[in-house]
Amino acid sequence: MSADSGNGSRHRHKLTDAGFVLDVRSLGRAPGSIKEFHRIVTPAEKIGLDLIAIPAGAEVELDLTLQSVSEGVLVTGTVSAPVEGECSRCLESFTDDIELHLTELFAYPNSATDQTTEDDEIPRLVDDFIDLEPVIVDSVGMELPLQPLCEPDCAGLCPECGVKMAIAGSGHGHEILDPRWAGLAKFNAESPDSAAFDDAVSDPSTDSTLAGHNGAASKTEES
Ligand SMILES: [Zn+2]
Ligand SMILES: [Zn+2]
Repeated sequence: MSADSGNGSRHRHKLTDAGFVLDVRSLGRAPGSIKEFHRIVTPAEKIGLDLIAIPAGAEVELDLTLQSVSEGVLVTGTVSAPVEGECSRCLESFTDDIELHLTELFAYPNSATDQTTEDDEIPRLVDDFIDLEPVIVDSVGMELPLQPLCEPDCAGLCPECGVKMAIAGSGHGHEILDPRWAGLAKFNAESPDSAAFDDAVSDPSTDSTLAGHNGAASKTEES
């Protein structure tokens, strides 16, 4: 008899010992029997949330201990994988890692647990297989942040102009003229009025060099 609802309806496929599906026959049913399990799975689809997820094709490492208990198979251990996200403050993409700690009982069919719980509360063994995928998908979804950040203290974007604050620097603001805009203003200034401004901001020692550059640039633009 196999599960016909709950987890089964989410991702039903013919069970083989591959990917997130484990054949646990060799564990046996003697309570206390233990087996270490190590596998690297590369899921075909991303696992996670809209803004942050384990990307498709990433290496998801399973480092698990399978233990036979009276009600089923207890799975404990870690699942680790790289994640790719988009910062919810500055929209920059970033990479990180996730490590899940699993403790999950897969109940034997016809066990007391099977008869007293729903299979969306406690997953079941199906034909001596356990399918970790729904468990991992749920755990990843709970572990990942809804509002991911590229850095814990990401300064986000300038609310005035949208530039990324980490790039713009702490001096970025719109009350004080940014030095880069001053440079542009000088470059654009063609009218005689601007000469006074140029003199005021230029270092006298480099003034002649700047004047030369400005002159050359003006000629190129005018021709
Ligand atoms: Zn950010
Ligand atoms: Zn700005």
